[in-house]
Amino acid sequence: MTHQRLVIFEEVAKSHDHPDAETICQRVREKIPTVSLDTIYRTLWMLDSLGLITTVGPSREKVRFDGNVTPHHHFVCSICGEAHDVDCPGLDSVTAPEEVEGIGRVNAVHVELRGVCKRCEKQTGSRERHI
Ligand SMILES: [Zn+2]
Ligand SMILES: [Zn+2]
Repeated sequence: MTHQRLVIFEEVAKSHDHPDAETICQRVREKIPTVSLDTIYRTLWMLDSLGLITTVGPSREKVRFDGNVTPHHHFVCSICGEAHDVDCPGLDSVTAPEEVEGIGRVNAVHVELRGVCKRCEKQTGSRERHI
């Protein structure tokens, strides 16, 4: 791994706030001012494919990166894309239905709870609460 990649990896590994690529870019620039967002993206997807980090979130554009690769669940806000870790032993013991065996082998169960975070709820107001 190159020095640049290592710095990017370290930033994600020590983060607990599920930063998006732009946030990671800002943090890495404190150490490597010349790094481009493009490099950040490429490196993040490479680290993801190596299983060194993982991703959370509703879409590729709003994707968040997670340095915590141990099994855990998330609450993801569908407006701002912010992800919060959720520990729920009840969810850990969820077993995949037998039909899944026809598709493939399950390695992990990841539950993504979707909703609107308190901050976004305040901003959008009660008007849109029923969407
Ligand atoms: Zn939100
Ligand atoms: Zn997480």
